[in-house]
Amino acid sequence: MSPRGWALVALAGLALALVVAAALLIPWNRPPAPRADQLAALGDLPADQVTHSREFRAALRPGGYASLVIGLLIALALGLTPLGSRLVELAGRPFGGHWVAQAVLGGLAVVLVADLVTLPFSAWRQAVLTRYGLSTNGWAGWLVDLLKSYAVSAVIGAVALLGFYAVIRLAPRWWWAFGAAGAAGLVVLLSFVLPVLVEPVFNRFTPMEQGPLRTELMAMAARDGVPVRDVLVADASRRTRAVNAYVSGIGPTRRVVVYDTLLREAPPAEVTAVVAHELGHARDRDVTVGTLTGALGAAAAVVALYLIGSWAPLLRLAGVDSVAEPRAFPLLVALVTVVGLVAAPVQALISRRVEARADAHALALTGDPSAFESMQRRLATINLADPDPPRWEYLYSATHPSTVERMAAARAYAREAGR
Ligand SMILES: [Zn+2]
Repeated sequence: MSPRGWALVALAGLALALVVAAALLIPWNRPPAPRADQLAALGDLPADQVTHSREFRAALRPGGYASLVIGLLIALALGLTPLGSRLVELAGRPFGGHWVAQAVLGGLAVVLVADLVTLPFSAWRQAVLTRYGLSTNGWAGWLVDLLKSYAVSAVIGAVALLGFYAVIRLAPRWWWAFGAAGAAGLVVLLSFVLPVLVEPVFNRFTPMEQGPLRTELMAMAARDGVPVRDVLVADASRRTRAVNAYVSGIGPTRRVVVYDTLLREAPPAEVTAVVAHELGHARDRDVTVGTLTGALGAAAAVVALYLIGSWAPLLRLAGVDSVAEPRAFPLLVALVTVVGLVAAPVQALISRRVEARADAHALALTGDPSAFESMQRRLATINLADPDPPRWEYLYSATHPSTVERMAAARAYAREAGR
């Protein structure tokens, strides 16, 4: 069988593995609480606060969607016309068109152009956040964050680009197989090292100070059978008023992180509810499962890019001879961008189901639905979340159940538990 034939077999195998993993590991049977309960919860929220949050979300929307559309258009313009391949050539020219220069500098130039074109929309977003008092870092802080994220992306991107095109040169016929394995390995490695190498670039993390709350949280983690070495506090207040918490990392790098803003704004019972939710993620190994499915997806993407990218009409549009040359990188970016936009609602649905499971875990672990509900209200109030966002936006991009869904879930739990 030819490499192409094997690639088709590999893609089918990876797709099957993804479907099986998704069917077995994602809690699909967690539908949202009944709509009537959600509407009752919405009615209990102060009307002026709901209006204020909706104004804020409406102010963010034009810039957000314009950024999405312009980002897509620039990716298509670079990938489906010879413009992108010329940009890669241009970046490599000072180095005699050497493949390393084309691969790394050309690749980064393509990404940078897309970033710069959408930059005005990021600035728009920061302006809205500042106007509504959510942002605390000012324009200088915003710019520093932006440069830091460019630098981090450039380092990771350079490693990935160099590795990818080196593999293509070493194995011209089978690069897609090694590339798929490398992409999967990179996803696992990143998930492992992000908390210790990248997150500290943006925030300082300190162990939560000793006291009754920390003792209570550590005891709860022990009771839950989730070994947690520490609860870390991030100095999120340097850039935002928003409150949040998360888990990241795998194995030895796994950590539960709470924002300092959360500790400042929420009473201990609500912080406990938030951490119980995060322990749910840890207990169900959501980061590990997400990493493994992400690795399978990345491997499948490389094989699919090899197969689709060899399609002659696409190569003609991009003005390149083969998908394997660095000049074809903009074509790959265009394909990945389109797939990303199409896959977004699926990813959002999966995320909402996983989050709903962590909510159920928090309710069962704390047995305190009223603290859970007041925590949800506080989160929505401070973060200016639309408690019941427009349906289409919810379906396309909501990574969490809406505030009214989460409130209704707490009430359903209270009814069942007879509290
Ligand atoms: Zn969560």
